[in-house]
Amino acid sequence: MAGVVARSLNMAVRTASRRGIHVSAAVRGDHDMTDPIEHATGVEKYELLAKQAGNDDPFFLKSYSRGAATKEEPCIVNAMDTFRLVGCVCHEDDTIIKWMWLCEGAPKRCACGYWFSLKVHPAPEKFAMPL
Ligand SMILES: [Zn+2]
Repeated sequence: MAGVVARSLNMAVRTASRRGIHVSAAVRGDHDMTDPIEHATGVEKYELLAKQAGNDDPFFLKSYSRGAATKEEPCIVNAMDTFRLVGCVCHEDDTIIKWMWLCEGAPKRCACGYWFSLKVHPAPEKFAMPL
């Protein structure tokens, strides 16, 4: 009797698990995914179009080496506003970043002695973003 119950339970599970789904890439093989540029709007599309045109960092988000960064030749920090928060890894072995605000027209010296200056670039207009 116990064997019969087990077998019928096994049949119920097997029946329930027999439902399958049909997935085949060959059915829609002639259709491609849409281009991300066609699907994007606003700031995302602005960034994708800039990257397509060859500008890999349109919003100045990549980090870079500060170089000599003396008072006469400070490290130029690009920004799209008149101020920007700048992080300086003062020494190669440091595990922290020293953050400071940098304003246009006021070069600033980090605690480690390196100088930074802000260079303002025009920001894309909010209502002129590509659609
Ligand atoms: Zn520093």
